[in-house]
Amino acid sequence: MNTFDLQSIIRENIKKLTPYQVKEFPCKIKLDANESPFPVKLSQIVNEIDISLNRYPDPDALELKKAISRRFKINTNNIMIGNGSDELIYYLILTFGGPVLYPVPTFSMYGIIAQSVGVKKIESKLDKNFDINEKEFIDLIKKKKPSLIFLSSPNNPTGNTFSADKILKIIEIAIKKSSIVVIDEAYHPFCSEKGFLPFLKDFDNLLILRTLSKIGLAGLRVGYLIGTDKILNEVGKVRLPYNVDALTQYIATHAINNFYSKIKKFIREIIKEREIMHKELSQIKGIRVYPSEANFILFKAKNSKEIHEKLIKAGILVRDISSVVKDSLRVTIGTKEENTEFIKTLKNILEG
Ligand code: PMP
Repeated sequence: MNTFDLQSIIRENIKKLTPYQVKEFPCKIKLDANESPFPVKLSQIVNEIDISLNRYPDPDALELKKAISRRFKINTNNIMIGNGSDELIYYLILTFGGPVLYPVPTFSMYGIIAQSVGVKKIESKLDKNFDINEKEFIDLIKKKKPSLIFLSSPNNPTGNTFSADKILKIIEIAIKKSSIVVIDEAYHPFCSEKGFLPFLKDFDNLLILRTLSKIGLAGLRVGYLIGTDKILNEVGKVRLPYNVDALTQYIATHAINNFYSKIKKFIREIIKEREIMHKELSQIKGIRVYPSEANFILFKAKNSKEIHEKLIKAGILVRDISSVVKDSLRVTIGTKEENTEFIKTLKNILEG
């Protein structure tokens, strides 16, 4: 075979990039990716898919925007749909560039996308309660004038929300420095606080990111960005024309219109199970469990790597977070049966 020097044409920032790790082990209980554990069959949402595949999808995904608009009381002009919220994060960084500021540990895609696009990333360590280090964060905004600030609240992988007062202060200072603040509310449906949608009317540098992935529809790939039409028009310049396919638009629209009461029931069940799981974990010797407002729980245990491997051997997959939070694992809330099996196995590993 004729060969060529592939390395010589790869951009330097891509050479140094570690891709998002999705390690798949075939496990009977999958509690690693913050998905909903409740199966959703297509036939529960639509009987017949009434679309013609010879045509491109609606580039504006208007029906889906209308469904979101009705349910969450947001104007369609203030919504942009993405192929998952990942895609919208990508578009934001592509549009506004850097520096991109975010606290760590957090969702790894902010940093991965910034690096792939080739913009500067600034990371500020969370404090010991996994809240924003206010002084450092505000100093960084003032000194570095980031184009974008990402705040995942509730935060992945820690599970807590950031203090609302701190977030508000950040938005107020950011607006003076012409920085956009993106509150990533991927886990908001599981959270007891009201979130930041009500503040959109007060700050035009504020964007909210939401997704259908955590509430039962991860297979569809639908995320949405909410903000001023002025900002969305700019982001729209880099959006690929048909980024959300016709099947996804159709199914997601029907899911929001006709299946949402079921989704809400699943969410309530997950919150109930999270409280049970939290209590159970806190009673296991050798484990430190952190509070959660999301559909997963972070916990610390010595030998977390060994525990992770033993859980896999027992057919249970959780996420090893030890590279970002020492000795820690993140477990997604599953069904009652899955959670019971997980707790039983974990107890056996630790105590047996
Ligand atoms: N934001 C956060 C905080 C997440 O944890 C995730 C998924 N892990 C995403 C965004 C991406 O979600 P989506 O499936 O919508 O791309």
